[in-house]
Amino acid sequence: MIVFINKGSDHKSVKAALAAAGVWSSAAFGRHMNALVVAPLSAGAQITAGEILSIDGVEDVLEVASPHPLVDGQGAVAGVGVGMSPVLMAGPCSVESPEQIGMAAVAAAAAGATYLRGGAFKPRTSPYAFQGHGRDALAWMREAADANGLKVVTEVMSERTAGVVASSADVLQIGSRNMANFALLHEVGRQGMPVLLKRGMASTVEEWLLAGEHLLHAGAAGVIFCERGVTGHDPITRNLLDLAAVALMHSVYRQPVIVDPSHATGRRDLIVPMAAAAMAAGADGLIVEYHPSPGEALSDGPQSVTATQLAAVGRIVRGQP
Ligand code: PEP
Ligand code: MN
Repeated sequence: MIVFINKGSDHKSVKAALAAAGVWSSAAFGRHMNALVVAPLSAGAQITAGEILSIDGVEDVLEVASPHPLVDGQGAVAGVGVGMSPVLMAGPCSVESPEQIGMAAVAAAAAGATYLRGGAFKPRTSPYAFQGHGRDALAWMREAADANGLKVVTEVMSERTAGVVASSADVLQIGSRNMANFALLHEVGRQGMPVLLKRGMASTVEEWLLAGEHLLHAGAAGVIFCERGVTGHDPITRNLLDLAAVALMHSVYRQPVIVDPSHATGRRDLIVPMAAAAMAAGADGLIVEYHPSPGEALSDGPQSVTATQLAAVGRIVRGQP
């Protein structure tokens, strides 16, 4: 949206009025133009285009067609987003046994999590690595979550298993490797459920928003965006956590956005500081890997936090010291 300023008026007072309504804007000057550029207004916006037009100093408002209108229209999704308390999702990378996911659910609930995470169908770089326990894992995770009053978020890896995952999860996850698998996005969207959409490891923010549009267009009940780090140049951390994208998604696009510091860093010693940084950037919550004995984990042990660290992450999410 472009907000044109009256000749002789100062764009700063208009910018302040927009900011007071929670709308970010940036100045644009041309030879014949004094204007502010604003991202499309979301459904939850505190101000309408008509109200912007009536701000002192505004001459006109030009609404530019957005390539992702369904995403722009989103409010909070499944209790996540603007106006909601920040959420914690926690659990192991992979569901390994009923005992392991049971212990993880107890620790997640104790840390204040509302969602249990865990992979049943795992995307692994090597075909020789553990691929997940599939349908059995879904049942173990559902039982562990129910016993601890938690919801379940788990990844859908293929169109073939979208239905079976949907029947035992509360939120369907699209992994980073599949963000641009459009056939999968359509099948997952058709389940009519909320979706946690991880950002592709080499995707732009615009491609991420458009992947969300694919899901909503296919029928998803809502999309929670998840920043999990993009490919960087330095292997000392697994990925590069793009917190500017988080601030942008939260403050400019007003989208529900959470951060996964586990896959972003690959190291448990960095999870607590990055959790704090993510919340400061405007994240609506965190998804963190926890394993009761990380040394024995079948996947992602080095980035799985201890129970003490998980409790610290829980306090960060709740804004406690
Ligand atoms: C996961 O959350 O288990 C996972 C595989 O993450 P990502 O898709 O971000 O690599
Ligand atoms: Mn993992």
